[in-house]
Amino acid sequence: MPNIVVVGAQWGDEGKGKIIDLLAQNADAVIRYQGGNNAGHTVVFDGKKHILHLVPSGILHPGTTCLIGNGVVIDPVSLLLEIEALEASGVQVRGNLKISELAHVTLPYHCALDQAYEAKRGKLKIETTHRGIGPTYKDKFGRTGIRMADIIEPDGFKSRLEQNLEEINFMFEKYFSLPPLQIKDTIVKYASLGQRLSEYVDDTAEIVNSMLDDGRMVLFEGAQGTFLDIDFGTYPFVTASHTLAGGASTGTGVGPTRLEKVLGIVKAYTTRVGAGPLPTELQAGGEDLRIRGKEYGATTGRPRRCGWFDAVIVRRAKMLNGFESMALTKLDVLSGIEKLYICVAYKINHEIVKAIPAALRKTDKLETIYEILPGWKEDISGIRKYQDLPDNTKRYIERIEELVGVKTSLISLGEARDQTIHMDDL
Ligand code: GDP
Repeated sequence: MPNIVVVGAQWGDEGKGKIIDLLAQNADAVIRYQGGNNAGHTVVFDGKKHILHLVPSGILHPGTTCLIGNGVVIDPVSLLLEIEALEASGVQVRGNLKISELAHVTLPYHCALDQAYEAKRGKLKIETTHRGIGPTYKDKFGRTGIRMADIIEPDGFKSRLEQNLEEINFMFEKYFSLPPLQIKDTIVKYASLGQRLSEYVDDTAEIVNSMLDDGRMVLFEGAQGTFLDIDFGTYPFVTASHTLAGGASTGTGVGPTRLEKVLGIVKAYTTRVGAGPLPTELQAGGEDLRIRGKEYGATTGRPRRCGWFDAVIVRRAKMLNGFESMALTKLDVLSGIEKLYICVAYKINHEIVKAIPAALRKTDKLETIYEILPGWKEDISGIRKYQDLPDNTKRYIERIEELVGVKTSLISLGEARDQTIHMDDL
């Protein structure tokens, strides 16, 4: 198998965790390239559910090296809890996990700022996960961030934190009316967390590139999805990092020529969590689909907004990520729906537009054009061969392929690894 970048083609929660876990059977390493513990991948193995926030979804395979790349932001408390929970359920993390020394650290003041900014935004809030991800990236790009290399070394951490203290406390006290940061407590606590994480911290760019030099197979794990990308997403209702396949290069230190293949993970309908445009949203947020698909956030438990399949955005996701094939997920959820709508075009003032407008105020005028396909009644979750699928299911898949302009490599019909139809060798 080639090296593969796995990327969500919609607004996240497409089922990337399951697909990465499946592909990791043949991978030597899985590396995360962006986001933080705002991500939540659900992997079901041996009937047991594991929710992963920072640890790559390859961790359930004992021989797979798992790496957290420089593009990821790390909350040490959350990461240690995740490692402990995995080890407690018999998963070997020690020795299999390495974290980039360049990854930026999410500290308690980032979480406090995240909440405080959201409160200030009032009606225009982004509905972030309150995990401090945006403020951590803001510090990274403002060049005041603290990295894993700093927190594993107590003096380095103290001096970086002291440099930032004046600005942090100015914001806390003067802008948000919050109590000032207790720097002593933070230093003591994070010095100890840094020590516990030090065995995992390494030069992950060197590790992954030397694995590639040795001809080993690497999976690049994206979090969130294409339309949450900081540039190409529905700004400002986006996440603070580059979710696109291109982020796999800068977020790991692997040159773009070595990435080889991009696999788009495409849910058979559309969902999004939080505020922002969702052109095919069903009335009342699509309650029926939400219940059928158990569409509640893995990180926050928030109900996801649900809508029909949107071929316009997935076609654009194909262009932005350069994927030539897709994994179509959660098709089983659509069983029993009489008529299936697919959005085939957008119009504004009777003119076709190829994307959600950059100026979001124009989305008020956005008209969605649908095609209606007949649904199927059968439970398809136990089917393992394409030819055994009902004709209407095949027709739905083939129409999506035509509209998006890509072939399907994997069809996912349930949470478990084996509830999958393999259409090719990828
Ligand atoms: P991710 O962030 O893209 O990994 O997606 P999540 O893990 O947040 O959400 C996907 C959810 O759907 C998880 O609970 C998965 O176990 C589940 N899931 C994945 N693929 C399928 C599928 O084909 N059918 C069904 N019914 N559930 C699936």
